[in-house]
Amino acid sequence: MRIVDYIIVGQGLAGSAVAIQLLTRGKKIVVIDESENNSSSRVAAGLFNPVTGKKMVKTWMADTVFPYLHNFYTNAEKITGEKFFFPMPLYRPFVSVEEQNEWMGRSADPLFAPYIEKIFSSPAFAQVKDSFGGLLLRQCGYLNTTRYVDAVRQWILKEATLLTEPLRDEELIVKDDRVIYRDIEASKIIFCNGTRINAWFNWLPIRPLKGETILVRTAFEENIIVNRGVYIVPGLQRGEWRIGATYNFQDKAPGITPEARTELEEKLNELMNIQYQCISQEWGFRPTTPDRRPLLGSHPEHPAVIIFNGFGTKGVSLTPYFSDVLIRWMENDTPLNKLVDIERYKSVYWTSPK
Ligand SMILES: Cc1cc2nc3c(=O)[nH]c(=O)nc-3n(C[C@H](O)[C@H](O)[C@H](O)COP(=O)(O)OP(=O)(O)OC[C@H]3O[C@@H](n4cnc5c(N)ncnc54)[C@H](O)[C@@H]3O)c2cc1C
Repeated sequence: MRIVDYIIVGQGLAGSAVAIQLLTRGKKIVVIDESENNSSSRVAAGLFNPVTGKKMVKTWMADTVFPYLHNFYTNAEKITGEKFFFPMPLYRPFVSVEEQNEWMGRSADPLFAPYIEKIFSSPAFAQVKDSFGGLLLRQCGYLNTTRYVDAVRQWILKEATLLTEPLRDEELIVKDDRVIYRDIEASKIIFCNGTRINAWFNWLPIRPLKGETILVRTAFEENIIVNRGVYIVPGLQRGEWRIGATYNFQDKAPGITPEARTELEEKLNELMNIQYQCISQEWGFRPTTPDRRPLLGSHPEHPAVIIFNGFGTKGVSLTPYFSDVLIRWMENDTPLNKLVDIERYKSVYWTSPK
């Protein structure tokens, strides 16, 4: 029997962050991941942005999670020897003089000041439709998620064990203080399985939210992300930009759709003055929750079975900080924030099979 500290199931953004936290603390781990081309983490544009939404409010816990993610991904680049983290300003054009004035006022507000790079009251970028100027935000950027997940995968292969196959639920033996999977014994198993159903946590409300993006080739050369209605984020190759994303709870079918492409192109044409050629389209399902907060905690009857999931539309910014929260809770008994603890759903959704 091989004895390790943890088994991690799933190596998307969630499982990768947990693996980094555990390996850098010297823990022994086995990761089991059946990689999928359309997993949320592989199709994400990787954007992180602390001021979002139609009303442009500071995102939940921005003052904590944004400084944390910066150190986390910079360190992940050091340990893996790969480049995937690209801090970059984000530009949001104004649509009216009122909006321009509102942001001029907000720029002195200590809540927003750390995130504002500059406010433009007249057009600033020739290829952006910004006749009223716009807001340039800092502490934004993008993570090349495919490169990140692949780099962490290579690092796990060197430092630990990776099984590139599905975990078979029926082969997992769960005891009070440990789990056994084939010839591996671990003190805990952590499910980071995104939207895929698993036997222990299928009672939790993880709602798949379909998203599609398009990749375009265009001569846009600025070193910024532009975001209003859609975002335009650098792709893997120079001259390629990812445009996203759609949000569709109704469409449960795998695959790309012409409707999504039309929606994205219409919004891109409203935002930008560019000629472009669409070269590909991608789709995936985000693991969302009704209250838009992640899911952390142990199974109601099996303390050795843990979940780390529900990162919805914000896996890039939330998984670094909350993987640290998870590990401090498992290793040092640091209480979980009630907003992320799965206890909040237990009384609503959990019924014991006994
Ligand atoms: C179109 C689109 C655009 C997005 N853009 C952004 C963005 O710009 N910024 C941002 O922050 N977020 C974005 N997201 C959301 C982000 O992708 C998710 O928050 C994040 O990827 C969730 O990661 P995860 O690891 O929980 O899940 P997943 O990425 O789904 O990873 C789960 C992994 O577990 C594996 N797995 C599951 N069950 C098993 C099993 N039984 N055995 C073995 N392996 C298993 C799967 O194969 C997969 O590899 C976007 C999502 C989509 C779909």
